[in-house]
Amino acid sequence: MNPSDKILVIGSGIAGMEASLMLSKAGKKVYLVERLPLIGGNVIKTGESFPNMDCSTCLVAPIQQLILQDKNITVLTVSKVEKVIGKAGNFGVSLTKKARYVNIAACLGCGMCYPVCPVSQPNFWEQGLVEKKAIYVECAGSLPNVPVIDPSLCLRLNGSEECNLCAETCIFGAIDFSEKDELLEENFAAIIVATGFSTLDARIIKNLGYGKFAGVYTAYEIERLLASNGPTEGVIKMRDGERIPEKIAIIHCAGRKEVGYCSNVCCSYPSRYAHFLTEKVPGVKIFDIYGDLCFPDKAYQKLNYETRKEKAEYLFSADLEKLEISEESDKLKIKYPDAGNQHKELLVDMAILAVAITPPAGLEDLTELLEIERDKYGFVKAETGSVNTTRDGIYVAGCATGPRDIQSSVLQSEAAVGQILRFLQD
Ligand SMILES: Cc1cc2nc3c(=O)[nH]c(=O)nc-3n(C[C@H](O)[C@H](O)[C@H](O)COP(=O)(O)OP(=O)(O)OC[C@H]3O[C@@H](n4cnc5c(N)ncnc54)[C@H](O)[C@@H]3O)c2cc1C
Ligand code: SF4
Ligand code: SF4
Repeated sequence: MNPSDKILVIGSGIAGMEASLMLSKAGKKVYLVERLPLIGGNVIKTGESFPNMDCSTCLVAPIQQLILQDKNITVLTVSKVEKVIGKAGNFGVSLTKKARYVNIAACLGCGMCYPVCPVSQPNFWEQGLVEKKAIYVECAGSLPNVPVIDPSLCLRLNGSEECNLCAETCIFGAIDFSEKDELLEENFAAIIVATGFSTLDARIIKNLGYGKFAGVYTAYEIERLLASNGPTEGVIKMRDGERIPEKIAIIHCAGRKEVGYCSNVCCSYPSRYAHFLTEKVPGVKIFDIYGDLCFPDKAYQKLNYETRKEKAEYLFSADLEKLEISEESDKLKIKYPDAGNQHKELLVDMAILAVAITPPAGLEDLTELLEIERDKYGFVKAETGSVNTTRDGIYVAGCATGPRDIQSSVLQSEAAVGQILRFLQD
């Protein structure tokens, strides 16, 4: 096939999926490469999305289904870009498609094979709030709805025991221990980098006590507690599995000083937390402690206005960097300077950190092999106001260039696809 008909999209979040579908509609063949076993990116970790409180799964699931059914799109999960040579119009790319050890065509996603597996490991997709087995899907509703086996933990694949329990349980014969990693060599006319973001390790933020005090949570931990497909099926409970929080503080801009920039969405999503927490925990009191408020869209401003009126008390701090969390019996004590720089204290059961967005792990290696530059914060460098990277034929979309919301990520995908189609026409 002519390379001008084929485009490589790296990362299957909302930006990568939307770009893939648009390219397919334009008659292009797409290889969508995702390093995780599931597609969908970070949006599927959130139960609902601002500004309309749309159910995120309902928003993303139809897009995921379209991707998986589209004959023009080859989805490569648990896969990695290894090498890129050539130039715009004809990049030669080597890709590793890791063995899943489960035949996607034969598996019906019934889930019978996980409970029998004797090996457990923390489920980091679920923020370590639950465990998963050596054969697993990350969460209920993962797409593709097919488990994957971790070869380093599986007793049979790592050679420590002759275990065959999952294969014996699967009446569809879908487990395939003979699968091998595959090296694929393909040519592409252009590449879109849509590798999204990660969040700062909250343990490194001084004075906030994450990892030390059980009552301190990150935003993604709360997303998973709120989500109906999360570890508690949407029930808000503290880590002991019993206590229900009566007072909750949301700490804005957690880690902004450490990363050196505003993370764009973390003033808006706390409005969503206040909305759902007050619905799920009758009588709960929510306090938002903030130093700045940034709402880059008129709908977000309105949402915040409604939240402040009805759902949460907003407390301005003249210097958030001086905010300190400590433990006092089974409560958290939050000390902070108020608007007039006067010392204030607040006792709560739970503190939620709106943690800064960072470049995803591995972006440095990927940008090196793509020979594109990163900006001073480590995100992919784009020309000002553009989706062009520093190399012809390679474009960027979504949070790969820095923190942004869903709608702006999708707009960038449209721009990148537009640039590619124009480049191919010239
Ligand atoms: C706590 C929180 C709540 C939020 N709530 C909202 C909200 O309510 N509304 C809203 O509009 N926005 C919200 N956002 C922002 C929203 O999540 C992003 O706008 C959106 O996820 C960006 O999509 P993306 O495709 O660019 O990146 P991602 O969703 O991060 O997807 C990137 C994908 O690329 C994959 N990947 C990374 N590196 C590689 C690699 N080297 N090779 C292959 N694959 C790779 C990742 O595994 C991932 O699947 C929130 C953000 C946070 C942190
Ligand atoms: S591998 Fe078999 S048992 Fe496991 S989910 Fe698929 S069909 Fe069900
Ligand atoms: S063979 Fe591996 S994945 Fe399957 S049940 Fe045993 S340890 Fe788990």
